[in-house]
Amino acid sequence: MPPLPAAGYIAAMLDHASNAPALPPEIARRRTFAIISHPDAGKTTLTEKFLLYGGAIQMAGQVRAKGEARRTRSDFMQMEKDRGISVSASAMSFDFGPFRFNLVDTPGHSDFSEDTYRTLTAVDAAIMVIDGAKGVESQTQKLFEVCRLRDLPILTFCNKMDRESRDTFDIIDEIQENLAIDVTPASWPIGVGRDFLGCYDMLHNRLELMDRADRNRVAETVKIDGLDDPKLNDLIPPHLLEKLREEVEMARELLPPLDHNAFLEGTLTPIWFGSAINSFGVKELMDGIAEYGPEPQPQDAQPRPIAADEKKVMGFVFKVQANMDPKHRDRVAFVRLASGHFTRGMKLTHVRSKKTMTISNPVLFLAADRELAEEAWAGDIIGIPNHGQLRIGDTLTEGEEVRVTGIPSFAPELLQGVRAGDPMKAKHLEKALMQFAEEGAAKVFKPAIGSGFIVGVVGALQFEVLASRIELEYGLPVRFDASQFTSARWVSGPQDQIDQLVKANTQHISYDHDGDPVFLTRLQWDIDRIERDYAGIKLSATKEMM
Ligand code: GDP
Repeated sequence: MPPLPAAGYIAAMLDHASNAPALPPEIARRRTFAIISHPDAGKTTLTEKFLLYGGAIQMAGQVRAKGEARRTRSDFMQMEKDRGISVSASAMSFDFGPFRFNLVDTPGHSDFSEDTYRTLTAVDAAIMVIDGAKGVESQTQKLFEVCRLRDLPILTFCNKMDRESRDTFDIIDEIQENLAIDVTPASWPIGVGRDFLGCYDMLHNRLELMDRADRNRVAETVKIDGLDDPKLNDLIPPHLLEKLREEVEMARELLPPLDHNAFLEGTLTPIWFGSAINSFGVKELMDGIAEYGPEPQPQDAQPRPIAADEKKVMGFVFKVQANMDPKHRDRVAFVRLASGHFTRGMKLTHVRSKKTMTISNPVLFLAADRELAEEAWAGDIIGIPNHGQLRIGDTLTEGEEVRVTGIPSFAPELLQGVRAGDPMKAKHLEKALMQFAEEGAAKVFKPAIGSGFIVGVVGALQFEVLASRIELEYGLPVRFDASQFTSARWVSGPQDQIDQLVKANTQHISYDHDGDPVFLTRLQWDIDRIERDYAGIKLSATKEMM
């Protein structure tokens, strides 16, 4: 099936350009987003259809078939295979008409929420997929809260309408109530389950009718002249038509219209109804991303924010992934370009170390495969293979001392001691742990007294992931055991007070992989005590990674 460029896009683009300061067209056409959902809602299926419409793959089913191949490539871990959990985020680029979409995958499991948070620092919008029968599920809610922290614009896709689903108003109410966000219908479903015929496109006043015979066919679009158009009598059975008219009238009365600013501010989400597996509603959703954006947004940084249209290239690392190719022991730093036009071979300053790096083999994650990136623009995600110089939160610039902010590290909620199964291998273990700490896969603390390490994670599953990776990648069996501590807080304040605190509380002090002091305890009371006793000291549950 060919990609579907449509005349409306360019007009829409120009339209946007006319009411906002114009971005260069190469940047304005970029859309960088993530999909958030509860497992099983249909994220993989939707991604597959995106690629299909983007012309990146020829046949639906390829992603799934490719799923196996992909698993051996990027989801290389045995555990991922066993459990079917995708632990690591990846990025994919594809064209949709004149637009370039960059889809950043978020890990689906709740135990990886910190990773998810950082992934979401690299996107300008998120698509929230919900299952029409299940509504807002726990993981959707969690991920949504993360988006809210960043005021990300959200587009909602209500999937599986070909199955028995809930009443449309119910679904919308649930989103509004549980997530405290206004919802505006971009489309309205006609019938549900077996009776699901398609949708009325409320934004463009047309009907989209689903083809049940061919799951990969684009829906037939029928231009209509309002819901009183006599054509409708031939297309929709009377009882469904009557219901549609009633519901749309009620929706128009009760629900807010699409306000572009409210959408961009993250307080209003347009919702599309569809069935990813039947390729239905997907193109309309993609049109929505294309038309409403947003375009690459400014990036918070110190001492000044970065605008996407700045001439000079700036970018930041939001994820580090090791062993994407098990044959090589390199790591790939995923960099979101915040500004400028990047070309291969460019020399960029690594702001933290002030060293120059020549970016000679950047990778662009084109849908089908990894490819060398000859060029990239603000909004794009490129992968930079490296040997550990690039860490999460690092900024690359053409020399200016600007550091991207807002990429935090969260205090772990679970702590355990870790030991090498073979005591002779303690050094190896340290190396492995440092690598994972730099990747952001875990927090590693070295206690001020005694030997060994304490590892902190957000969800229990991460301990298993770590153990299995250390064994797989370093050939090192490890044992985790209970730690006496349950909370970790980064210590900041005047150096003399820090020194004092460290001296008086040595048994509570550890150092993270950057060498920064961390206060470990099992009692909130301890934390309160320190803050009371040391006026200038702050114990904090987050740390900016820079
Ligand atoms: P993920 O866990 O969110 O990535 O969900 P998947 O895309 O793997 O989908 C979960 C299950 O729902 C799979 O069995 C899909 O075939 C099925 N599914 C996805 N979309 C639809 C849909 O529109 N209708 C129906 N009936 N099933 C769907």
